[in-house]
Amino acid sequence: MADRPEYLICLDCETPCYSFEWQEGEVTEVFCDACGADTPEEFMSEDDFEGMVSAEGGEAGGH
Ligand SMILES: [Zn+2]
Repeated sequence: MADRPEYLICLDCETPCYSFEWQEGEVTEVFCDACGADTPEEFMSEDDFEGMVSAEGGEAGGH
């Protein structure tokens, strides 16, 4: 259901990557020009990345 994101963020160097293959809501192929990461597990969509960052940085609420 998820639309193809505009870019994926490399978790190693946090560089946005605009060239990747996207099929049926999943990344199938991706390559980071900056650090050479090329496994989909090392990348996040913009939405996922922002969710992760806010979860890490948010002191309010939580447990
Ligand atoms: Zn990278």
